[in-house]
Amino acid sequence: MSSDNKHAWALSISQFVLLITLLNLIIFHVPLYQFVSDNLPLDSLQGVTTLLSVLAIIFLVSLFLFSVVALVLPFLLKPLSIIFTLLNAAAIYFMTTYHVVLDKTMMGNILNTRNEESLDFLTPSFFVYFVLLGVLPSWLIFKTKIKKRGQLRLVLQVLVSFVVGGLFIYLNASSWLWIDKHAKTLGGKILPWSYVMNTARHYSEQSEGAKIQQLLPPATFRNDKKQVVVLVIGETARAQNFSLYGYSRQTNPFLSKRKGLTVFKNTNACSTYTTASVACILSHTESNPSGFEPLPSYLNRHGVDVIWRTKNWGEPPIKTNEYLEPSDLEANCKGADCAFDGVLLTGLKQRIEGSTKNKILVVLHTKGSHGPSYFSRYTKDFEVFKPICKTVELDKCTQQELQNAYDNTILYTDYFLDKTIDLLSELDGVPSTLIYISDHGESLGEFGLYLHGTPYAIAPDFQKKVPFLVWQSNKNSLITNADSYSQANIFHSVLGAFGVESKIYDKSLDVF
Ligand SMILES: [Zn+2]
Repeated sequence: MSSDNKHAWALSISQFVLLITLLNLIIFHVPLYQFVSDNLPLDSLQGVTTLLSVLAIIFLVSLFLFSVVALVLPFLLKPLSIIFTLLNAAAIYFMTTYHVVLDKTMMGNILNTRNEESLDFLTPSFFVYFVLLGVLPSWLIFKTKIKKRGQLRLVLQVLVSFVVGGLFIYLNASSWLWIDKHAKTLGGKILPWSYVMNTARHYSEQSEGAKIQQLLPPATFRNDKKQVVVLVIGETARAQNFSLYGYSRQTNPFLSKRKGLTVFKNTNACSTYTTASVACILSHTESNPSGFEPLPSYLNRHGVDVIWRTKNWGEPPIKTNEYLEPSDLEANCKGADCAFDGVLLTGLKQRIEGSTKNKILVVLHTKGSHGPSYFSRYTKDFEVFKPICKTVELDKCTQQELQNAYDNTILYTDYFLDKTIDLLSELDGVPSTLIYISDHGESLGEFGLYLHGTPYAIAPDFQKKVPFLVWQSNKNSLITNADSYSQANIFHSVLGAFGVESKIYDKSLDVF
């Protein structure tokens, strides 16, 4: 059988590279054009030449990289073109639907997302994007025969393009300033190179970060009285939607009635995504949170009974006395809460009462308000604000539906924290403290942004301002005289609560 039968048409290697470069430029850069047209007056000559300069840069970058592949690894040219086309189609869907920026941290988010969470995103419109922009062009590429010859012409093509394109960019020096100013945003929108580069950067940073966590200095305890501290790590809860923080809706009906509760205003998350923020919450420093022994390991090493219960993921490597996931707890759980954060409280009172240690740290890592499926974070009883957004394609919902579903997750969190306080109140004669802080906030369509993970420098406050609450069994409220608080307060406050003496302890960050 002749190999020509399976190919619909044949192109020389230089034609193929040119075609794939142009296809890539036209189909997969709509978000980039949108950004340029939103930020540049396109009815002026300056605007048009700047746009053309941006196009010329993308064209040259892609032409060069595809040509290098064609010359060095010619057998990879076709499969790589197909893989990039499919990935680009998926990327375009997320960029246009959720306005995400495919930078290093976002690639980390995507690569760390668990399979069950990715299923949330597999919507009908995702398949429309994927088939039209991914599968169809891929099939055309697949049916194309690439002739083996023509390398010299390919090199010539690159050289001529760089001379002409380079000259054009050079002559439009007045557009450089604008391009330079927006380089980071533009770079994140150049497909496929943005996610290829940023995936590589994510992994190289991770392998660096995997260096051994530096141990903290020795710790001693001022007393050996029995005492419990519960640290609840929230997920995607933003302070703006807590009535305790001035939200006009009653989203904290339980906690607002609690005595001994302190609300710390103006608390900033150190990042807009889970892994970095959880590292900050557990670290004594925000400057290199992953470089040191985290709070659970530190206390565990000094004899504290550390119990970690999670409905979430993404914590740094930690040492605990007990690490439990929902699958470990569900068997003994009863009631509607078992499919939600409530499962974390299963048998907790008995576990604390049965502990042989004097100091007990419980960390509850909740699923909180994790999107986009806000509607699946609470029991039916908490569907108080209606109608709600029932799809994960957030831009298909009205602002009101989205806000309703999100606010219901806050209601559930309010109930969950209240139930945890109930549990602590029932501990006979054991003083206890509950600390609650969220990892980061969330965008609910403000400024066209959804979800979180926007680069910190440009992220809105909705993604950065988090609730930070403390309850103490002695029913005293705390003095909150600082202008602002951060996730660095947690480490030092937990040390303070346990009466730990250590060189690493910073009294100025201890809220007690
Ligand atoms: Zn998170």
